[in-house]
Amino acid sequence: MAELFYDDDADLSIIQGRKVAVLGYGSQGHAHALSLRDSGVDVRVGLHEGSGSRARAEEQGLRVTTPAEAAAEADVIMILVPDPVQAKVYEESVAPNLKDGDALFFGHGLNIRYEFIKPPANVDVCMVAPKGPGHLVRRQYEEGRGVPCIVAVEQDAGGSAFELALSYAKGIGGTRAGVIKTTFTEETETDLFGEQAVLCGGTAALVKAGFETLVEAGYQPEIAYFECLHELKLIVDLMYEGGLQKMRWSVSETAEWGDYVSGPRVVNDQTKAEMKKILGEIQDGSFARNWMAEYNAGLPKYTEYKKADEDHLLETTGKKLRSLMSWVDEAE
Ligand code: NAD
Ligand code: MG
Ligand code: MG
Ligand code: MG
Ligand code: MG
Repeated sequence: MAELFYDDDADLSIIQGRKVAVLGYGSQGHAHALSLRDSGVDVRVGLHEGSGSRARAEEQGLRVTTPAEAAAEADVIMILVPDPVQAKVYEESVAPNLKDGDALFFGHGLNIRYEFIKPPANVDVCMVAPKGPGHLVRRQYEEGRGVPCIVAVEQDAGGSAFELALSYAKGIGGTRAGVIKTTFTEETETDLFGEQAVLCGGTAALVKAGFETLVEAGYQPEIAYFECLHELKLIVDLMYEGGLQKMRWSVSETAEWGDYVSGPRVVNDQTKAEMKKILGEIQDGSFARNWMAEYNAGLPKYTEYKKADEDHLLETTGKKLRSLMSWVDEAE
């Protein structure tokens, strides 16, 4: 079972005694920088000259420098730029400015796990990854609560990297909720698998296949949209609140019976065998290598897939129907 750490296990003064650079000011970057600052930590934000986020970070009272200057000033460098550009930012701005005893921090393990970034042996390499989007991380912090984080140490050059990582997690409110210890390998592989097989890939494919089945059988697309996409939120909310049991308690007995007898026919042994293949490609690094090649080639297939799904009847139907539901637009 996982090891859990709370506020009492973490010493905030460790991170308060360091100089932190947060590179990037997107979803995670803004939440980390603002909450660390409010926790009494010396923070600067590193953004390239033309970055649209510069003005926003400054308005919110943070000092902004270039990524290279931030990395040079700081002794804890948190890299929160998008994963596919991290290696470039690291090579250009971070590596030339790393000193003995510095700590390199990440919010996701991809670049370390697949060695797109290879830090020198004289720095700590840590991960603090909140299990929620940055805006929730920041809002919870401001309300005196926190989003659970996972923390990992890949390289412990100074002998106290884990204490440093826990201290950082406390600075963004993570230990108020609870911090789980993991490894870069476990975090990266499970994150990629989850988003591909279940959360994004699996769910999108399931919704599309269900919608297409109904429409091809002659049912109206609007009705198919409600049944296969719109109502999914209700089901997922129930699972989120109380697992499969609460979902089954809430739906009709007919729906529950259909769940038991038909679900395993849709997601069957063949599906699971394919999931194992997907996991294998994540573990052997071929997924990550192929994705970086696609990214560096200018995203040709990515753009093609995106366009094809934007034009799908599911999406055009959804657009029309959502405009009828005033409350849907208002959601965050
Ligand atoms: P984001 O896309 O929201 O923000 C990226 C930031 O980097 C922006 O401020 C952008 O201006 C800046 N940026 C882009 N290109 C740059 C460049 N070449 N040089 C310097 N700055 C550049 O990213 P995010 O979602 O906050 O993700 C950051 C990290 O956090 C990733 O490793 C991601 O896997 C991880 N993470 C994200 C979430 C999430 O919910 N979004 C959750 C956990 C972990
Ligand atoms: Mg994830
Ligand atoms: Mg991910
Ligand atoms: Mg129904
Ligand atoms: Mg029931």
